[in-house]
Amino acid sequence: MRMHVLTGGFLQMRRSVFYPDADRAEKMRLPVNCYLLRHPRGNVLFDTGCHPAVVTEPEARWGGLAKFMTPVGRPEDNLIDQLAELGLTPDDIDLVINSHLHTDHCGCNRFFRRAEVRAHAQELEYARRPDALAQGIFSEDWAEGTSIRPFSESVDIFGDGRLILLPVPGHTPGMTAALVHLESGDRFVLASDCVPMSEHLLGEIIPRNTWNPELLTASLAELRRIQSQGYTVLCGHDPVQWDTLRTGALAYE
Ligand SMILES: [Zn+2]
Repeated sequence: MRMHVLTGGFLQMRRSVFYPDADRAEKMRLPVNCYLLRHPRGNVLFDTGCHPAVVTEPEARWGGLAKFMTPVGRPEDNLIDQLAELGLTPDDIDLVINSHLHTDHCGCNRFFRRAEVRAHAQELEYARRPDALAQGIFSEDWAEGTSIRPFSESVDIFGDGRLILLPVPGHTPGMTAALVHLESGDRFVLASDCVPMSEHLLGEIIPRNTWNPELLTASLAELRRIQSQGYTVLCGHDPVQWDTLRTGALAYE
């Protein structure tokens, strides 16, 4: 199995969302991490990033959210163009896994008409609540034109230990990470927004956009335990880590 780190867009947000002590005027530029896992039995995406149109028509897509989460990437910084660079079309994808349903993690779901889509049952329940829109969850991303098959506990996707889903609630109720085991022996945790930036893994800085701080604290303790077994934790939106990663066509094998 090979793993490609792909961009799902770039965002500008207030630094104080992630570092509550930061000056509210301070902004930061964030990558949106997505992953393509090429297993002999199928192509899997872990998160689908922002919809490609958010760059050119941010307010039409995102309304007021675009003020707080402003797309700042180039038009081609989206998952569909990234896949095309690898010679893949959306129809080459067999399975889409959403770590959670914030719009920067499932914005391209609708392109993958052939794929099965999976997310945690509690995330689906959360996404159906009347206040979901205010949380950055848009039903057109995940509810229209696709059906999502829920899971509620850890899932070994291929039954061979290569890709295992691990619920890590806290950022949202159904937040899910993935454990990746490559043939080289390299092991990764795709932590998504459970660990937006490396500093958050310690659990001492709790981002403002946290649904349940107690659950997040417990999930982070679990990820630190896993990290101590030799896993590299890949963050959801860490600009410093992003610059150190192999991205696009360069794969981890
Ligand atoms: Zn999120």
